[in-house]
Amino acid sequence: MADETTEYQGKATMEKITSLAKRRGFVFQSSEIYGGQNGAWDYGPLGIELKNRIARFWWKEMTQLHDNIVGLDAAILMHPRTWEASGHVENFTDPLVDCKKCKSRFRADMIPEENLAKKICPDCGGELTDTRKFNLMFKTHIGPMEDSSNIIYLRPETAQGIYVNYKNIIQSNRMKIPFGIAQIGKAFRNEIVTKNFIFRTCEFEQMEMQYFVKPESDVEWFNEWKKRRWAYYEKLGVKMDHLRWHQHGPDELAHYAKDAYDIQYLFPMGWRELEGVHNRTNYDLTRHTEYSGKDLQYIDQDNNNDRYIPYIIETSAGLTRTLLMILCDAYDEEKVSEKGGDGGQEDIRTVLRFHPSVAPLTVALLPLMKKDGLAELAQDIRTELKEDFTTDYDQAGAIGRRYRRQDEAGTPFCVTVDYQSKEDGTVTLRYRDSMEQIRLPRAALAEKIRQEIKNYKRT
Ligand code: ATP
Repeated sequence: MADETTEYQGKATMEKITSLAKRRGFVFQSSEIYGGQNGAWDYGPLGIELKNRIARFWWKEMTQLHDNIVGLDAAILMHPRTWEASGHVENFTDPLVDCKKCKSRFRADMIPEENLAKKICPDCGGELTDTRKFNLMFKTHIGPMEDSSNIIYLRPETAQGIYVNYKNIIQSNRMKIPFGIAQIGKAFRNEIVTKNFIFRTCEFEQMEMQYFVKPESDVEWFNEWKKRRWAYYEKLGVKMDHLRWHQHGPDELAHYAKDAYDIQYLFPMGWRELEGVHNRTNYDLTRHTEYSGKDLQYIDQDNNNDRYIPYIIETSAGLTRTLLMILCDAYDEEKVSEKGGDGGQEDIRTVLRFHPSVAPLTVALLPLMKKDGLAELAQDIRTELKEDFTTDYDQAGAIGRRYRRQDEAGTPFCVTVDYQSKEDGTVTLRYRDSMEQIRLPRAALAEKIRQEIKNYKRT
């Protein structure tokens, strides 16, 4: 793809991100003590905060700010007929080739065409097998019998849980078209190529919103959702010149889609999909009607009880992939001459410039000294701020070092308590991005932080 040649200008590399993520407790390899489990990752103390906040940010955007979008949390295990109806049993495949010599397995669309044509392994030069279709769904058995009547799948997308509940939700919540259903949850795919850290994993989380519209209004709503999703990333405060649209060509279109655009992000390894906006037409509900025998038509009571199967516009973003995007986007290395670097020399600080509304920790409390009641005072302020913000407390080492530790964790605000604080009740508020410090009364702190979060603009 032409994409692959686009130069990445940021300071992040996948090695730096992976190593920082581990060092600071964002993301660990799954079952690391056993050598790790391919395609699975664990989210540590800072990672889970970040993930929850991204999810919360999306959820608010979708449900709280849209009067006609409601939430759902469907089960991961669904009736196996669901996946026959959706087309996943038949079509959810990757083309695979194996090397007969070194036994490596490749996705046929990811190795050079020449190798494929000549059937030569790109790793060892051995002979490749013919291309085979490989289904990406994880299949297991439910109940004590391991036979074909007990097959069950781990869902490969959250969308189907929404479709099978669409009638329930219309009835229970009196929804009228157009309306949407939002869901965040785990999905599983037996991915063969899982490199690039948490970019493509076998177990991941999706944030999907399915919008049900009148058949002839699908194109209009598709364009509207493209606009809204673009605006969402602006609000999330990420580098907009690192985002672009990519329209699916005829070869890329999924079996259900009439039109599809991806929002791609410029990761250190190049432009990659972050989110898909798809016009799924009435494919899914038509198929579920056929396979379930239930009438899934919408009855338009405002229009002479017109009946139709709605079209669906889907916005589907990876939550864990967004987390990787945000880590890469926030990552910066900056030359500073702040004392606290070794010998007070100029040095490089690593800083994660998260938007404060997704930063895992909002405020860190740092007493200048442990003694003379400063630690107690800082703890006391922490207790006060805890109700409203996620906080951290650090009294170990030189203050400059402590600032650096918070910069690396992406904490937007540090509050330093010193001897003057004891006398006049003021504290220092230090900003992560500019490293600027201001003094203000302790009593004004919470409100000031709230305002700063609201008015945050990345510099
Ligand atoms: P890709 O082409 O990267 O495999 P896809 O087109 O199959 O993705 P969709 O089925 O449209 O992806 O899923 C929607 C979103 O879910 C993607 O944009 C991505 O953010 C996320 N996603 C899909 N597969 C994975 C995975 N294996 N690991 C992490 N996130 C994923």
